[in-house]
Amino acid sequence: MSRLPTVKLLINGEFVESRTEQWREVINPATQQVLARVPMATAEEVNAAVSAARTAFASWKKTPIGTRARIFLKLQQLIREHMKELAAILTAEQGKTLADAEGDVFRGLEVVEHAANIGTLQLGEYAENVAGGVDTYTVMQPLGVCAGITPFNFPAMIPLWMFPMAIATGNTFVLKPSEQDPMVTMRLVELALQAGIPPGVLNVVHGGAEVVNAICDHPDIKAISFVGSTHVGTHVYHRASQNGKRVQCMMGAKNHAIVLPDANKEQALNQLTGAAFGAAGQRCMALSVAVLVGEAQQWIPELVAKARSLTIGAGHDNPDLGPLISCAARERVAGLIAKGAAEGAKLELDGRHVHVDGYEHGNFIGPTIFSGVKPGMAIYQQEVFGPVLCLLAADTLDDAIALINANPNGNGTAIFTQSGAAARKFQEEIDVGQVGINVPIPVPVPLFSFTGSRGSKLGDLGPYGKQVVLFYTQTKTVTSRWFDDDASSGKVHTTIALR
Ligand code: NAD
Repeated sequence: MSRLPTVKLLINGEFVESRTEQWREVINPATQQVLARVPMATAEEVNAAVSAARTAFASWKKTPIGTRARIFLKLQQLIREHMKELAAILTAEQGKTLADAEGDVFRGLEVVEHAANIGTLQLGEYAENVAGGVDTYTVMQPLGVCAGITPFNFPAMIPLWMFPMAIATGNTFVLKPSEQDPMVTMRLVELALQAGIPPGVLNVVHGGAEVVNAICDHPDIKAISFVGSTHVGTHVYHRASQNGKRVQCMMGAKNHAIVLPDANKEQALNQLTGAAFGAAGQRCMALSVAVLVGEAQQWIPELVAKARSLTIGAGHDNPDLGPLISCAARERVAGLIAKGAAEGAKLELDGRHVHVDGYEHGNFIGPTIFSGVKPGMAIYQQEVFGPVLCLLAADTLDDAIALINANPNGNGTAIFTQSGAAARKFQEEIDVGQVGINVPIPVPVPLFSFTGSRGSKLGDLGPYGKQVVLFYTQTKTVTSRWFDDDASSGKVHTTIALR
């Protein structure tokens, strides 16, 4: 046990061993092999990380834009060079397929590329002669120490949503990765230091609820970006906001697709199958509900056949889907499948009894499909976060839109249709953050902002795109007047008007 590698903390530019007595294991979900031990950092260690970030902020905020930008140019190059290695680490600890692991890293890499453009993103405004000889301008200044708390399902992409943009805008950062799969995050952090991030500008602490609460309470942390479940995110939002911090929480989902009978059937069913079962359904943008409208209800047998044909296995063998993150997650999903059947949904395909040769202890669940699902059933009310697709029926597009808008979550949605008018109506009336039109997982590229509606998001600004520059900066508005040497002395004015 003690010979296992330990995941280090990063404090003030040094990778250090935690002094904690509380550790948990990082486990390969396909084999149950213990890969490493991760510490639950002590209160002193969290304080040391914040203190290092606070000290580093004094000089980092004054570091020239070009210097900041070039670090991220270098980091994107290093990530590209290490893509295969990063994907292999990610697959071993998280379970997703190697191809999907590369996708995870790549979607984060896009944000690093965007951070390298910071020079054109963090620009203020200027107006000349707002009054006679008076000019007004704004600058977007960094906030100070910011923190990020990330989930297990995208251990590369989501940390890369956070620290590059926070640091590029002139802040310093404390990252708290998921304790379930922190190893690829740490490799990315090593590359970030190699790219030139100075000591104290990026720090990492590990842990669970206690460390997260310490981050929410720490008076020197100005802003928190959280991605994870609705339950935890709501807690983080309230606790940190009450402590005066700026907070954004991207949270849970129940993403619906509408399939209209005029859709390109083959395309729609392929896309739906991939988006429901890819990454074993452990994506916040997974399509976990399909609303089949009218004649499309007759496509169920073909959908089931496609789902049945998917291969399941250890991620490094590149099957279609790998295992769930943990034994507990597998048990939870299997329990919800049992509940769905007990509550009267029709189990069209049951993935609970898959067997993967050579990986008998893996946390596998195969593609599972329920038809006849109704609001109120547990499999519909809860985010399953496994390879389980719920099929509901609707008579019309209006009924389908009403159903989606009545769901508490509003993360992602998609419509499959060949009708521009139907797609436009859907886009306009649906209350969901990310909308796909014949695109099943519409995660935006970083030129735009990731968002979310209703129960899927708390806080006003998204984690990347233009919105994140606003999130990580505060606007300072300067009004200035310069007197010519020969300006007349004028007289005293006691009104608020600028003269
Ligand atoms: P989680 O909420 O369990 O964990 C997220 C983070 O919170 C982790 O760092 C964890 O250590 C910490 N945490 C866990 N329990 C805590 C507690 N009681 N108090 C304080 N902190 C705690 O989420 P997860 O299971 O790692 O990730 C899956 C969830 O994340 C799903 O709900 C998924 O939809 C969501 N997610 C959302 C988005 C999005 O952009 N909307 C993206 C990815 C994942």
